[in-house]
Amino acid sequence: MAELIIPNRIYQPEFECMDRAERRALQLKRLKESIERASVLDFYKKKFKELGITADKINSLDDLRRLPITTKQDLRDYYPFGFFAVDRSKLVRIHASSGTTGKPTFVGYTKNDLDLWSTCCARFLVAGGLTPDQVTQIAFGYGLFTGGFGLHYGIEKVGAAIIPASSGNTQRQIMLLKDAKVDTVICTPSYALNIAEVIKAQGLKKGDLAWKFAHFGGEQWTEEMRLKIEDALGIYAFNNYGLSEIIGPGVSGECAARTGMHIQEDHFLVECLNPETLEPVAEGEEGELVITALSKEACPIIRYRTRDLSKLFWSEPCPCGRTTMRMSRVKGRTDDMMIIRGVNVFPSQVEEALMKVGGIAPHYLIELYRPGNLDQAVVKIEMLPETFSDKMDELQKLKNSIDREISAITGIHFDIQLVAPNSLERTGGKAKHVADYRGLKID
Ligand SMILES: [Zn+2]
Repeated sequence: MAELIIPNRIYQPEFECMDRAERRALQLKRLKESIERASVLDFYKKKFKELGITADKINSLDDLRRLPITTKQDLRDYYPFGFFAVDRSKLVRIHASSGTTGKPTFVGYTKNDLDLWSTCCARFLVAGGLTPDQVTQIAFGYGLFTGGFGLHYGIEKVGAAIIPASSGNTQRQIMLLKDAKVDTVICTPSYALNIAEVIKAQGLKKGDLAWKFAHFGGEQWTEEMRLKIEDALGIYAFNNYGLSEIIGPGVSGECAARTGMHIQEDHFLVECLNPETLEPVAEGEEGELVITALSKEACPIIRYRTRDLSKLFWSEPCPCGRTTMRMSRVKGRTDDMMIIRGVNVFPSQVEEALMKVGGIAPHYLIELYRPGNLDQAVVKIEMLPETFSDKMDELQKLKNSIDREISAITGIHFDIQLVAPNSLERTGGKAKHVADYRGLKID
C-alpha cells in the first residue's frame, strides 16, 4: 500500500469517506435534479425530447448512458448564455474558458455554485497539506480563467492566508515567497520550473525559503516533471484537475498517498469512455473523461466530453480513507494528439522521454513541418548552463540518448536540436509545447 507522505487530513469526511452505496443513492437523486434543471435549456429540451428522457425515467446510475453527450461545439453554438439555466438575478459570477479558437465559452455561477466550488477546492487543498496557519501565494492569473478565483475562495474556506500575487513578474513572486515566508504556492507546473530557475540564478538555496507545498493545475505534466520540481525546490507538489465547463479546479485532486486524484463524486459523475465508440472502458484502461455536474445550478452540464485522456480506479481502497474513485493524471487531450507519419504521439510522451535524460532542462518545443509529403518532427530542447558546450562529440552523444528515449516511447524519430539555456519562450501560464506548421506553405 502507498505511504502517506504528509499527515492525512480530510475536509469533509462525511462526504469524502461516504459509504459507496449511500453515495450512489445521493448521486442518483442529484442526477435527477440536474436533469430537471437542464430541462429548461433549449439544447437539452430538444435532446431529451428526441431520446424520450424525463427525470422520473432515470431509475439507476446506469441510465446515465441514455443521456445525451454535450460537446464544446454545442456550448459554442449557444453562445453567449444558451447554457445558463437561471435568471440573471440569480447569477453572481461569470467566467469564461480560454478561447484559443474563436470565441470563449461563458460559465455562470449562483451563490450556491460558488460555495460548492470553493468547498471542492478546499477538499483537495486540505488533502494536499493546506492548514489554516499557512500563508499561500496564488500565481495563477486572476481573471476570466477559473484557476485564480477558484483556488482563492477554496483557500479562504480552509482559513489560510492568501497573497493574491496573480501571474507573471517572477522576481516579485520570489521576493514575496521569501519575505512573507510563504508555505504553499498555487501555479502551473511549468511556471514552478521558471521560478526554480530564477531562484537558482539568484543563488538562493532550498532552505532559504519556507515553501513546502505546491498545488499544480491548468496544464498537463508528467510524474518525471514532478520529481524534477520537488528535487529543485525541496517541496511536495500535488496535482489537481478541473475545467471551467464543469466548474473550474476542484473536480479532483491528490491526497497524501498520491495514488491518483480523488474525484469529488458526490458532485461530479465521471465516466471514462472509448473516444471513438463512446462505450465505457474497463477499470484502469485509458479513455476520454465525460463528466456530469450533479449539483450546479447556473450551468447544469450533462455528459460533457472533456477531450482529456485519463484512467479511472475504484477497486483498491486508498490508504487515506477516502472512498471516492480516483483518476490518473491526464495524459493529454484527444485534440492535443499529434499524428506524425501516421503514428499517434502526445506531447506528454515526449516530455516523459526527455525527463529520463540528464543534462537538459525541462523546457522543450515540438515543431512539425511537412516540406514535401512526409512529416518532419523537430524537438528543440534547452541545455543546462553546466552542460552547454561546443564539444561536438559530447553533444552528439546527448542527442543520441535523447533520440533513443523518445523513439522507445513514441516509435518516432525526431530531429533533435539542442538549444542554448533560456532560449525558448517562457510564459507565465500554460507552457506552449507544440507548434504545428504542417498546414502552412513553407518555401
Ligand atoms: Zn487517498
